[in-house]
Amino acid sequence: MEGVVVEAEVVTGNQLGRKLGFPTANMNVALRADISNGVYRSQITIDGRVYQAMSNVGVRPSVDSTGRWLETHVFDFHGNLYGKTLTVRLLEKIRDERKFHSVSELRAQLEHDMEYCREYNNEENNMKKSVVSSFDVDHRTLREGLYLRSTYTINEQLAVLSWDLRFCAPMDRKPLEAGVVHTIEHLMAYHLRLDETIGSAIVSFCPMGCQTGFYLSTMNSVTAADIAAALTRVYNKVFPIATTDDIVGLNEIQCGNPYLYAIDATNEAMSNYIKILREVL
Ligand SMILES: [Zn+2]
Repeated sequence: MEGVVVEAEVVTGNQLGRKLGFPTANMNVALRADISNGVYRSQITIDGRVYQAMSNVGVRPSVDSTGRWLETHVFDFHGNLYGKTLTVRLLEKIRDERKFHSVSELRAQLEHDMEYCREYNNEENNMKKSVVSSFDVDHRTLREGLYLRSTYTINEQLAVLSWDLRFCAPMDRKPLEAGVVHTIEHLMAYHLRLDETIGSAIVSFCPMGCQTGFYLSTMNSVTAADIAAALTRVYNKVFPIATTDDIVGLNEIQCGNPYLYAIDATNEAMSNYIKILREVL
């Protein structure tokens, strides 16, 4: 990602930000000639999580006439950061420093700055959601397995996880036949939702158009181990299937094409995938 990075210890500031309702994490950047004074849209990493933020770089004579300070207001975070060494990423300078004639004028400007940063971040997040990040993977070397493909954030919170259940290695050029894809879709869409551990956290289960696997979206509480365990439970409960009666919803009322299915090939594909999960997890 772009941006200028500052990694430094958070020290006590002048508490002015706190009085204004904008508490800040303050770092000394006296030696950073590569950063110009001004207000920035930024990000800060705290205990491994990235928070959206806005930062001010400048001289604060009332605190330390020799210092130059990076003051970062972290959105949606409450906690003591003094003494921690944190990483701030300055993403975009949004304005120069300026003098304010009153506290209320300063506060109004800070609110305006914050609104800009939040709106920009929301737009960026919305864009991320529309990107099919799967296309960034080199499919020539991709193996079978269970992959966390992308994470979606809503209101700056990690919200939905998107998983790839890759049944076939694309390089092998042996995709699942359409009947298998359709049969597994019916069985998993139904039985996985009934699973005691992850059932209520499933957002969607759907086939990949390339017929090499399935997309599973879950809430962020779910881990790869949870998914592997749930798939194994469903497999033990439902497989092998013997007749079309075992395929939930395969009828003209509930399905667009109830004549597309496979019995033996589905049993084989599921058995193979469960074995793969056992090997990789
Ligand atoms: Zn169907």
